[in-house]
Amino acid sequence: MPKHLTKSLHQKISLAGGKLTRLRKAILDILIQENCLVDKKTVVKKLNQKKINPDRTTLYRELLFLTKNNLVQKTLLNEKIYYELTDLSHHHHLICLICNKIKKIPLENHLQCQEKILSQKNNFDIINHNLEFYGYCYKCQKNN
Ligand SMILES: [Zn+2]
Ligand SMILES: [Zn+2]
Ligand SMILES: [Zn+2]
Repeated sequence: MPKHLTKSLHQKISLAGGKLTRLRKAILDILIQENCLVDKKTVVKKLNQKKINPDRTTLYRELLFLTKNNLVQKTLLNEKIYYELTDLSHHHHLICLICNKIKKIPLENHLQCQEKILSQKNNFDIINHNLEFYGYCYKCQKNN
């Protein structure tokens, strides 16, 4: 785990009144390693590889804790739930509707500016946002 990431994650967990349990740490490690969107199935598979086998309720509660406290972001893409660490270098995704391939893309700061305006206009404390682009990747364009 990169040091600065670990520190801010630990801070958020203790602020939320939680502890760094084995399961919690394992999930965060997996998300850090993957560095982008990970679907629930993959999370479970990787946990099992670490010999951690949480039951459904435990895993559900854990993921809820992480998303509620903004450590992890939950995204629904192509009817599948994905999880991603909130603190990773901020980026968005290009998602192919045919092959489901996901590409990470950074987006420049005009959105940050929009965020500020929205925040002020609506008196809403924005902590994060989510924006995905859907379409057809190069390969799928050629095959059609
Ligand atoms: Zn991502
Ligand atoms: Zn953004
Ligand atoms: Zn494609």
